[in-house]
Amino acid sequence: EEDDIIGDRLCQNYNVESNDNNCTSDINNYILNDEPGEQKNDFYIDNFTDSATSDEDSNEATTEDPRIHEFTNITTTSYCTDLLNLLREAGVSKLHSKRLIALIQSVLPTPNNLPSTMDDLLLFMNIDDLFFKQSFCLVCKQYLEYKQRVCFTCKCFDEKAITDVYNVNVKHVLKTLLKRLSPIIEKYKKNIYDDIDEEETKDIPFGKLYKELLNKYASENIISLILHLDGVSLTRSSNLKMWLFSGSFVELPPSFRYRRYNMILLSIWVAYAEPQSHVWLQSIISQIQLIKMQAITISEVLSYKLKIFAITGDCPALKLVLKFTSHVGYYCCWLCYIRGRHVGGKRQYEFKLPMIMRDRDAYEEESRLAEQKQINVYGHLGLSVLSSVLDIPLPDAIIIDYLHVTLLGHTKALILNIFHSFAPNERLEVDNWFKMQIFPHYFNRKIKPISKFGFVKATEVKNILFYAALPVFQLYLSIEQLSHLALFICFTRLLHGQSIVGLETNKIAK
Ligand SMILES: [Zn+2]
Ligand SMILES: [Zn+2]
Repeated sequence: EEDDIIGDRLCQNYNVESNDNNCTSDINNYILNDEPGEQKNDFYIDNFTDSATSDEDSNEATTEDPRIHEFTNITTTSYCTDLLNLLREAGVSKLHSKRLIALIQSVLPTPNNLPSTMDDLLLFMNIDDLFFKQSFCLVCKQYLEYKQRVCFTCKCFDEKAITDVYNVNVKHVLKTLLKRLSPIIEKYKKNIYDDIDEEETKDIPFGKLYKELLNKYASENIISLILHLDGVSLTRSSNLKMWLFSGSFVELPPSFRYRRYNMILLSIWVAYAEPQSHVWLQSIISQIQLIKMQAITISEVLSYKLKIFAITGDCPALKLVLKFTSHVGYYCCWLCYIRGRHVGGKRQYEFKLPMIMRDRDAYEEESRLAEQKQINVYGHLGLSVLSSVLDIPLPDAIIIDYLHVTLLGHTKALILNIFHSFAPNERLEVDNWFKMQIFPHYFNRKIKPISKFGFVKATEVKNILFYAALPVFQLYLSIEQLSHLALFICFTRLLHGQSIVGLETNKIAK
């Protein structure tokens, strides 16, 4: 919320500035100069020279913020800001932006201050080129020359074999982000050091692993990242996919941590093929390694040392970046050595005591062995590209999150199972109930019918679990089934909600 307020203030400031520029004396000056009807060429020249001389008088004002041209009060900065905002919000492509700028340029009096190309416009607005684009040939595994769209090494002319990788300038973006966020970070860090868990949610920095990190780097002022990996389809018709590699700051309070503008986007992979983690992430990882060795200076009194705390994502993403077998493989668990069995066309993982857990040394040893011999060692397929930057060793650095496990995992499976145990006409009724359910506007999403659960979002599953499941399912389930479901819902609420009776909950529950 605070951030939004800051945003509002910026807007307000901006408005105030532009109002100031519309100072009345200026306007009067121009009304006097401008005689409507007289639009002959010679008048124009006269008028131009006239205002040019008057400009020299008020030189100080104009060098600060020049007007877009001589016959207006609109400043170049405010005009360019509006133009750029419009182009962005309307989603105008680069090509058409260029045409539009040229079109506007053609009707403006000359000379004028409107930048003539999109690049000039961005340069004028101080918008840095934060991304560095590289193209890569998937066939011969080589980077292509700048702007080259065909690979001449392997004579491959298939555009689908070429992938685009966008890497951010990590140091620059980190510094800018931290400059903005450091007041919030410093405040939260104080709480972390003093072990005051104000919200009593047992947030990540109050946990065991973060304490380990703090002890390990006790002499440094650390800032640590949780890395995220995710793949999204770009179109419905083709399998063009975009993969995102991003990071969020552990030292931000949870309400700030996962906002898009507080996260750092590290790298993007756009291709028709799944990324190969080494090819894709090697250069961004070396950038991170370099930054980890230096200090990130925010001000004269404040600097940070970067640490990498953890990695998270869904199963396909983690499989890819950890070089691990997929979630239906025989040894698919990162934390234990449970072996799947093939029963009735499905892989089953039967729980058996004692559980044999993977530890850090074994994890590393086995992944190294898999890398050397190019074989599968208890699920390892090789050494992860992240192992060189993670400050908490694998497998402890893998965060298994609520969204993927509880919502898209357990809850989704549970709801689907219950749904398919109903008779066909009951299923129609349930879907109808869900369809008719009205929610307050701040829920942002409607309930999706369970028959169309293929593309369900985690928030939708959450709304069904906490708000819609019990009232609707009670019409169809036996009391025992319903009680079990209710227990699961209560359990999830308690586990992920704020603690009601303080940190002693588990003692009281006994
Ligand atoms: Zn090639
Ligand atoms: Zn396990």
